[in-house]
Amino acid sequence: MRSARLTILPFTVQTPVQSLHDLQSVSHRVSRFREEVLLSGVQEDCMSKIVILGAGVAGHTAASFLRKWLNNSHDVTVVSPLPNYNWIPSNIWLGLGRMREEQVTFPLAPVYERAGIRFEQARAIAIYPEGSGDLSSPHVVVEKQGDSPLRFPVPYDFLINATGPRLNFDATEGLGPEKFTDSVCTVSHATAAAKHFLDLVERMRNGARCRFVVGAGHGMCTCQGAAFEYVVNLEFELKRHGVRDRAEVIFLTSEYELGDFGMGGAFVRRNGYITPTNIFTESVLAERNVWSITRAHVQKVENGLIHYENLAGEEHKMNFDMAMLLPPFTGVGLSAYKRTGEEITTQLFAANAFMKVDGNYTSKPFEEWKASDWPKTYQSPVYPNIFAAGIAFAPPHTISRPYKNPRGIPIYATAPRTGMPSATIGRVVARSIADKLEGKQGEPYGASMAELGAACVASAGSGWLRGTAASMTVFPIVPDYDRYPKYGRDLRYTTGEIGLAGHWIKMILHYMFLYKAQLRPGWRLIPE
Ligand SMILES: Cc1cc2nc3c(=O)[nH]c(=O)nc-3n(C[C@H](O)[C@H](O)[C@H](O)COP(=O)(O)OP(=O)(O)OC[C@H]3O[C@@H](n4cnc5c(N)ncnc54)[C@H](O)[C@@H]3O)c2cc1C
Repeated sequence: MRSARLTILPFTVQTPVQSLHDLQSVSHRVSRFREEVLLSGVQEDCMSKIVILGAGVAGHTAASFLRKWLNNSHDVTVVSPLPNYNWIPSNIWLGLGRMREEQVTFPLAPVYERAGIRFEQARAIAIYPEGSGDLSSPHVVVEKQGDSPLRFPVPYDFLINATGPRLNFDATEGLGPEKFTDSVCTVSHATAAAKHFLDLVERMRNGARCRFVVGAGHGMCTCQGAAFEYVVNLEFELKRHGVRDRAEVIFLTSEYELGDFGMGGAFVRRNGYITPTNIFTESVLAERNVWSITRAHVQKVENGLIHYENLAGEEHKMNFDMAMLLPPFTGVGLSAYKRTGEEITTQLFAANAFMKVDGNYTSKPFEEWKASDWPKTYQSPVYPNIFAAGIAFAPPHTISRPYKNPRGIPIYATAPRTGMPSATIGRVVARSIADKLEGKQGEPYGASMAELGAACVASAGSGWLRGTAASMTVFPIVPDYDRYPKYGRDLRYTTGEIGLAGHWIKMILHYMFLYKAQLRPGWRLIPE
């Protein structure tokens, strides 16, 4: 795991790579350069290269802690295609015109430069965990966008895949901002959604009536918490703009019941009572006069028309003026190859393109899954120097009970992929790698989602005085019926509240997490 201090940058800017042949020739030149450096002894030291794919919650956290924990002889490189960090939870406010792009993003390059983290603005394409014929060390082939895209290898000793999700709009005909629906998953999506929303507000001011549909654009979506938050905010904004009486608001979800959130629902402690999240969520929507449709799979979307079917197999159509429908997620589609060139993508990745780690992926009936099947170390079982953090790792199974309708269409909420565990996993994986590089013996650290909690604050409004929030905490995220036989969770830490205080928390989290992500003084003291 040792290599010379080496930059492959001289190859990146000058060498357009269009084919595998070109790539091999670049790899060859890199390899020769690397060997020359090694042989000459120039700049040789005991450096290790840690490459992190992705600069989202998980990847950025991992890179920041690695840089803090490792001395500067080790090289920490982040490869990510976008120039900016995006605090995604606040896209909800961006997507309704309550925040501007610069309030939820910041440029990564200056932050990384200050921290001593190398930043390669590029997209990872393929992993060569054993090296290739031309470049003997393990490497990732990345692609830099431009008039003629450049492909080049980035060598690593340790690799963290934190590439998050691919937004799989193609799973549903007509879904997505390039077609007929809106999204708030990215900054550009949320910006377009806000424009659409404010245009409709203007039309309603002039007397129009509009229907807003918010929710899941496919039977196997996750992130219902985000859709729930958007619908509550949208309703709040309609009131604030004085047009609520002209709008119909509908929450459309693949969840079996409201409040499932992909974690099979939960029982929360609230004002001394134990309430199912179903009741909690239903009452939040009912109080706001938001209609809901559960157990739904969107078949296709046309201009202003959603076609969906439900678990009973009934087919329906619904008109809309604006539909913010989240897509299902898959992995980003990295491929992997052995040194011989043999493709090993299916050894490293599950069928949904998320990376297989140390979870139990054997197929078994839903009833037989256990909390202990969830991964702990996020280490690849095939290549121990590869980890997957955040959304990029493959969940071993669903937490909510999976259902199919009479036509065999699966309709249920898939496992939640929230920010708090993503950041914690990023930090824990960084700790495991740092320990290995410091020569410490022992197993990598663990952070199973069956031992981690999560907080979901669905906050409406964006000021300090006007707003309210439905706040929930669950512990653990994956219920553990061996430890907590009655409810699967510890009710001391599984709570639900509604009120202005939750809204303040959400606002504070927005500023605190952006402060932390910018690695400003004391950032380490702010928890994930
Ligand atoms: C609208 C919305 C609201 C949300 N609200 C909340 C909330 O309130 N609370 C909460 O806990 N969670 C929330 N979430 C979930 C939270 O955003 C995710 O859990 C979190 O972003 C996951 O972090 P990640 O690093 O795994 O993925 P991401 O944050 O998606 O980061 C992935 C990174 O990988 C990069 N990347 C993609 N492809 C490649 C590639 N091929 N090569 C290299 N890099 C690549 C991306 O550009 C990005 O930098 C919300 C999600 C959405 C969509």
